[in-house]
Amino acid sequence: MLREELATMPVEVEQDEAGNLWAYFKGRSTDTVVVGSHLDSVPAGGWLDGALGVMGGLEVLRSLAAAPTPPQRSFALVDWADEEGARFSRSLFGSAAVAGTLDVDIVRELKDRWGNLLPDVVAEHGVVLLSLIHISEPTRLLSTSYAVFCLKQKKPKQELTIHICVTQTNKNTD
Ligand SMILES: [Zn+2]
Repeated sequence: MLREELATMPVEVEQDEAGNLWAYFKGRSTDTVVVGSHLDSVPAGGWLDGALGVMGGLEVLRSLAAAPTPPQRSFALVDWADEEGARFSRSLFGSAAVAGTLDVDIVRELKDRWGNLLPDVVAEHGVVLLSLIHISEPTRLLSTSYAVFCLKQKKPKQELTIHICVTQTNKNTD
C-alpha cells in the first residue's frame, strides 16, 4: 500500500540494504529532513503505533509535491524495517543497521516461534544479513534532521497527548 501511494508522487523510492523503505523528495539544497516510523507493530500496540508516523510523512510528501515551488531542504520518508521486533524479540532491526549499532552476531542466531532463523527470513525480503556488518548508511544521515512519530495507546480510545521531538543532527536512531 505504501509503495502504491509513493508511486503516484514525484519521489525517488529505494529499499536499502537493511530492508528500510526510503522515499526522497528533492528540495533546493541537499540538506535533508527525514521523517520516519514503521508499519510493523506489537500485540496491543494500537492502530497508531508506527503507522501514524509513516502516514504523517506521506502527507508531508503529498503537500510538498503539490506546492508551487520546491522546499528549501530535501525531504525523506523512511519506513523502518522490523522496528518493533515482534517476530524475533529484537526491536530496531532496520534503524539500528542504519545507525551502525546492529549486532549481526546476535541477531543471526535469533529464531521465530516456528524455528525459522532470522537470516533466512530477511533473505526472503532481499536483505543479506552479513552485508549489514559494514553498512554504508550512517553517512546518509550525517546532514539531516530527523523526526519520528510513534504512539502506543494503552487503551484503544484513550485520549492522546502528543510530544514531538526534532533533532538538528542525528547519528544514532536507537
Ligand atoms: Zn512503535
